Amino acid sequence: MTKGNHTEVAIIGGGIVGCAAAYYIAKAGIDCTLIEKNDIASGTSSKCDGNISIVDKDPGFDSKMSLVSQELTVDLNKDLELPFEYRALGSILVCDNDDEMQAAKDWVKTQSEGGLKFNVLDPKDIRQESPFFAEDIPGGLECETDSLINPYLFCYSLVDKAKQYGLKVRTNAEVTAISKGDDFTIETSDGTITAKKVVNAAGVWAPFIGKMLDLDIPIVPRKGHILVGSRQQPIMMRNVMEFGYLMNKFGRERIADERTTEHGVALVLEPTESQNFLLGSSREFVGYDSKVNIQVVETIAKRALRFYPKMNDFKMIRAYAGFRPFTEDHLPIVSAVDEIPGFYIAAGHEGDGISLATVTGKLVEELIQEKETIIPVAPLRFDRFEKVPIS
Ligand SMILES: Cc1cc2nc3c(=O)[nH]c(=O)nc-3n(C[C@H](O)[C@H](O)[C@H](O)COP(=O)(O)OP(=O)(O)OC[C@H]3O[C@@H](n4cnc5c(N)ncnc54)[C@H](O)[C@@H]3O)c2cc1C
Repeated sequence: MTKGNHTEVAIIGGGIVGCAAAYYIAKAGIDCTLIEKNDIASGTSSKCDGNISIVDKDPGFDSKMSLVSQELTVDLNKDLELPFEYRALGSILVCDNDDEMQAAKDWVKTQSEGGLKFNVLDPKDIRQESPFFAEDIPGGLECETDSLINPYLFCYSLVDKAKQYGLKVRTNAEVTAISKGDDFTIETSDGTITAKKVVNAAGVWAPFIGKMLDLDIPIVPRKGHILVGSRQQPIMMRNVMEFGYLMNKFGRERIADERTTEHGVALVLEPTESQNFLLGSSREFVGYDSKVNIQVVETIAKRALRFYPKMNDFKMIRAYAGFRPFTEDHLPIVSAVDEIPGFYIAAGHEGDGISLATVTGKLVEELIQEKETIIPVAPLRFDRFEKVPIS
């Protein structure tokens, strides 16, 4: 149990990653405090889609890590008490042209060889998914194991259960300084907390927490916009992405018009449980400015019409933007920091933080307890990045 303001493990950041880590650490019987500067899920984890997907992961480690996360989420759907709109229906990826269709077939082959459940879809399959699809879509692919959640509800559900396991939660407590003696001393806007171990789960703000301990963490914000469409007629049940989404995410060459390229736009359509739908998305390096850019929103809407022309007169409710915590090699940092014993980083999940939150939370719990990990952590180590001294 926490005594006063001392805790065994302090987690900084109440987004999906911090909440998942808090759940597994509290469940393991470890005294733990979650510190959040605003409210739970007030950062990127409430300004995103809710795909727990493999369909958009690079074959190999990236896909395998997502599969483990999907499996752990099935367990959580049983253990957590507050519902979080979990739907395990698989997801699909559609192609714009024959070249993409060929690439999609290759993608299915590679992922299937890796033991994952991928299938090629022909134009007839695509039309069966939704009567709203354009007639000329050459086909696509599906990943059978992909699922959807409401990330905002998921965070609250994790915290609710973790509190039953003993988690302490400090919201509206912004961490302003950290020092290290025998214990860590964490200054917040709501008082001082001491801890034996600290987990930096502050998403795109993880570098600012790092700087408090003279640590340079190479994570930068990659802004993304989402447009919320109003429920009128059921569009479809499963999540859809276009093949160009993969090209944008991994920075590969893609044929698209100037504005689509400039704002890194590619179709994502996520039906919510209430049958509203989320239309995305964009990818841009424009700092921490969270204002919605109407030009980007228009480009997203225009791109959606390429695949869903009959959506032309659908009503849209609102738009929002969030920041993906980007790392150079597209993998998160889930790692101890050798030069600061007791300090851990769990951040940098870019567009995959919803997909990878559960496996990340489990890994953090295992790293803290120095146990064997559920997947190898070498590719996620902090020291894979060259250290640049802070000026
Ligand atoms: C448009 C868009 C769509 C996306 N769609 C998907 C998707 O479908 N699937 C998927 O897997 N991923 C998706 N992502 C990515 C995913 O949303 C992120 O990777 C994930 O939310 C990151 O979670 P996090 O917990 O690391 O960060 P956050 O949710 O940002 O949490 C970090 C928390 O730290 C807190 N904090 C910061 N500084 C301090 C401080 N000094 N003191 C205390 N607290 C602090 C913040 O307030 C914040 O709540 C999408 C992202 C965007 C932008």
